[in-house]
Amino acid sequence: MAGGTVRRPTRRRLTPLVLCYHAVSDDWPHRLALPADLLLRQVDALRRLRRVHVTFDDAFRSIVDVIPALQERGLPVTIFVCTGFADAGGAPLLIPELASDDDRDVAELATLTWDELRTLASFGVEIASHTVTHARLPAIAGEDLSQELEASKRRLEEELGGPCDRLAYPYGRYDARVRAAARAAGYSEAFALRRLARDRFARPRVDLYRRHTPIRALGRAASSPFSRSR
Ligand SMILES: [Zn+2]
Repeated sequence: MAGGTVRRPTRRRLTPLVLCYHAVSDDWPHRLALPADLLLRQVDALRRLRRVHVTFDDAFRSIVDVIPALQERGLPVTIFVCTGFADAGGAPLLIPELASDDDRDVAELATLTWDELRTLASFGVEIASHTVTHARLPAIAGEDLSQELEASKRRLEEELGGPCDRLAYPYGRYDARVRAAARAAGYSEAFALRRLARDRFARPRVDLYRRHTPIRALGRAASSPFSRSR
């Protein structure tokens, strides 16, 4: 057409905002646990702005009931599993940081069994690695590091019958050596937390907790590395 300049809409970045959650509970007042209703309100607030990918670290059994509501919204869901706990029959994640003598805590820290993980996978949930033991990876030596990364990937592939391409670093902790080891173990991508890196082995995520109202979740996402140019 003569004369007019067609202005293209600003191209929105296509990378999804990757959210990191842990446990889901209406009445367990632990920092890792959000009521399902709050989690969904956070997700709904954020997905008005950006494509959202919901991830759960640690494979707590308490997350299962919220997953259908996420899938009804068309959102991809990934669960990062510590395979040693699945191998122990869905044992509670009683790592030193979460150690507790309270029966309630121990019950809420129960993790998903391989059967449960297979069922979730059959509904389209991605099941990926969070190492074998929830190790603090930058603190461990070479062979132990490769064991955490390689054995967890192998166990997931054996149990689920498909490739395990993704990893989330426990505590979001990594360094250059850990990134290199993740690449060498055969992963295609690894997730950290709120740190900016131009590296597919240090993808940032926004971790959200029960203190985050939907408005605060928006603020936390806005101040995350996703919002800076990269
Ligand atoms: Zn974790």
